[in-house]
Amino acid sequence: MDFRYHIHIMTLFPDVVGDMLCESILGRAQERDIIRVDCHQIRDYTLNKQRQVDDYPYGGGHGAVMQADPLYQCWKHICDEAGEKIHTIYLSPVGKVFKQADAKRLQRDYHNLILVCGHYEGIDERFIEECVDEEISLGDFVLTGGEIPAMAVADAVCRLVPGVLSDAACFTDESHWDGLLEYPQYSRPEVWHEKRVPPILLSGHHANIAKWRRKQAILRTRDRRPDMYKKLDLSSKADQKLLKEIAAEESET
Ligand code: SAM
Repeated sequence: MDFRYHIHIMTLFPDVVGDMLCESILGRAQERDIIRVDCHQIRDYTLNKQRQVDDYPYGGGHGAVMQADPLYQCWKHICDEAGEKIHTIYLSPVGKVFKQADAKRLQRDYHNLILVCGHYEGIDERFIEECVDEEISLGDFVLTGGEIPAMAVADAVCRLVPGVLSDAACFTDESHWDGLLEYPQYSRPEVWHEKRVPPILLSGHHANIAKWRRKQAILRTRDRRPDMYKKLDLSSKADQKLLKEIAAEESET
């Protein structure tokens, strides 16, 4: 079966990861054979009775390190079955921090991926040297395992695969697609806890609504993420007009 995107996750907890990615939008996309997520139990590739995958770190120190060979045998099995060397990512706090641009790139440049989840103190460096193409971090913090980061990467990439969401506008309109944060969203009822939905959103005037949303997105980005705001290109006539309006409104208050 040819899926539009096929993700393999190497983990010590395949049931947990598989269950999570079978729910909701990604679950429906798997049922429709648009994408496929396969979770592989690394322990199935050990040669010892105890199915042990870790051992003491050379040089001493606390904790255990996942050994290279079970990881390699699992990785090789997946690549042999696919008939190709699959782009391989190790989820790691020493990797490059994951951004929406990486999700776009991974969806655009590959049709399949292997995501390797570490545990304990991490994995033997020689497996990384031999099999891993890139290391990705979920952020500047340390988790107990790579499963949550792998699920985050799989989710962010798969929702960009054509057909997974009902319309590309579902993601091109969202935060981080074009360097902006999203405008605020509202749903029914019109008044909740004495708070009203902004009247423009009830006007039915699509051009004015789009203008209001763009203005809110610019303001939010400026106020919450000055680092992103600095990189924005707001040189178009329409944006310049919005910036003037913002300046005028702010000088009144
Ligand atoms: N000893 C490692 C270090 O100091 O860099 C941390 C190992 S961590 C306890 C165990 C596993 O969790 C890692 O092998 C990695 O797969 C995963 N992990 C932890 N934090 C992560 C993060 N921020 N991003 C991606 N993966 C992470």
